[in-house]
Amino acid sequence: MGRAAVIHKAAADLRVPPNLSDYDATCGGFSWSEMAAQLPSPPGGGCNIAWSAVDRHADGPLKDRPALRFLGSGDPAGPIPVTEFSYAELADRAGRFTRVLRDLGIGKGDRLFVFADRIPELYIAVLGALRNGTVVTPLFSAFGPEPLATRLGLGSAQVLVTTEALYHRRVAAVRDRVPTLGHVLLVGDGEERTDVPGTLDLRSLLDAAEPAAPTPTTADDPALLHFTSGTTGTPKGALHVHGAVVTHYATGTYALDLHPDDIFWCTADPGWVTGTSYGIIAPLLHGVTSVVDEAEFEADRWYRILQDQQVSVWYTAPTAIRMLMRAGPEVAQRHRFPNLRFIASVGEPLAPDAVWWGTDVLGLPIHDNWWQTETGGIMIANTPAFDIKPGSMGRPLPGVEAHIVRRDEDGGVHEVTDADSEGELALRAGWPSMFRGYLNQDERYRKCFAGDLYLTGDLAKRDADGYFWFVGRADDVIKSAGHLIGPFEVESALAEHPAVLEAAVIGVPDEILGEKVKAFVVLERGIEPDDALRRKLIGHARVRLGAAVAPKELEFVDSLPHTRSGKTLRRLLKARELGLAEGDTSTLESPEVTR
Ligand code: AMP
Repeated sequence: MGRAAVIHKAAADLRVPPNLSDYDATCGGFSWSEMAAQLPSPPGGGCNIAWSAVDRHADGPLKDRPALRFLGSGDPAGPIPVTEFSYAELADRAGRFTRVLRDLGIGKGDRLFVFADRIPELYIAVLGALRNGTVVTPLFSAFGPEPLATRLGLGSAQVLVTTEALYHRRVAAVRDRVPTLGHVLLVGDGEERTDVPGTLDLRSLLDAAEPAAPTPTTADDPALLHFTSGTTGTPKGALHVHGAVVTHYATGTYALDLHPDDIFWCTADPGWVTGTSYGIIAPLLHGVTSVVDEAEFEADRWYRILQDQQVSVWYTAPTAIRMLMRAGPEVAQRHRFPNLRFIASVGEPLAPDAVWWGTDVLGLPIHDNWWQTETGGIMIANTPAFDIKPGSMGRPLPGVEAHIVRRDEDGGVHEVTDADSEGELALRAGWPSMFRGYLNQDERYRKCFAGDLYLTGDLAKRDADGYFWFVGRADDVIKSAGHLIGPFEVESALAEHPAVLEAAVIGVPDEILGEKVKAFVVLERGIEPDDALRRKLIGHARVRLGAAVAPKELEFVDSLPHTRSGKTLRRLLKARELGLAEGDTSTLESPEVTR
């Protein structure tokens, strides 16, 4: 039986009155300056993300409320170990980290990277560095040495916070490639102090430090540097400022519908922008308790967390939902979720069956929303009181102006006003969390704008009711398990292998991952393709790049298609792979855009 095209909802039917009940009135009367005025400023003025997230709660009524609740890996059969930090404790630890940095001579505008699993020190370091005006980059701990070294180098990292295990496995071998890296702060694997030459033991430094007051920062001071991928060249470092906090707060209000008593769980890793904006900042701004799972996905564990931690608002991703769907409803049925009242998802297309799966299995539909590293926060969303059209990303949030445009030959764009017509999704510049540059790549940044419209690189449609529908990417980047992967980075790692003459990488559909990375490889003359070599090359890529980024499939080919100027025609490879006529690449993404 077909399911309805719309899930009708009314504010009056919801368990908690939604923060956004009258969409048109709120959008009509919205101003970012009024929203900014709702967030208190640090004493002495200015703006600082970490001050708003923790310091301001540390002496107030929320001081004893759990701010972060870490769930340890523990014994899979036993209870999940819990470590909590109240707002006052978190402010104290972040203040100590600020002091540690200052004592090392690290200050405003300097660069700190964190390369760690979701352990408390990651969160303390991010907050403590932001308090110090130091620009922070959390990196995904599954990255292999290559993506790690590339990003540390591009970002001129001065300080790295990592764990003893990751240091030995991935960092030590590439440390010499980052001449700016003056300090490595290690979190020991055991209880004892670490004693690794050339590093400092972070826990003992924190224990000995007196909390330091925040450094004054303004809304325009750089705060976070998140790397993202494009079709060509090295990863792009998208720079965000402290003023982004206003978007984090507003979207926590409208898109995630955070209320004071919520227990919130964002499943994203801070190595991706979602895990920073919504896994660290937004819930703390709202003074709610935020759950952090230190372990990796496991269906029964996730349901146990939703149930036992009494999660009320859950922010997750399509790949995770697909994995839960595959585990079967009986795993969910062993649990009850009476506290759960709102579920949102981001990062990849959310198919209608996944929206309905939420209704069937968890008792609530999943609310898709859309944004990207460059936007710093949620831009388009299904909020609690909207009717949902399963398959749609929802409508632009208050303060966000979204358009569908097509690029003109002269470099400008024109708007597509007809309903249901495809074009590139563009946003009117002016929201506070808009990225302020790609690090050291001004031209690339400039090319993202046509006048004051920011061109997102995504293709989409708007329907007659103002709902936006995702169509595809306008470039060659790959979205696998929610991770944006630049083909160039993977191709370069493969091409380093002595057997490889040339490689091209595309995303091919995958039931669970959305897309999986597939490589086409031309071998050096005289080298014979066979299964052992295929496995060896995949293994080589996994060691270099990490399992999340390396190709899952590899095919040997005699040659790769190129343009006359020498660019690899990945779109043609994709057309062949998807069984489309080779001349007909029209259903693939538009060929002229490379970002
Ligand atoms: P990232 O910068 O890694 O967060 O990736 C952003 C990209 O993920 C977007 O430009 C989209 O291509 C994709 N994306 C994010 N949210 C959605 C969504 N709700 N539906 C479809 N694609 C999405």
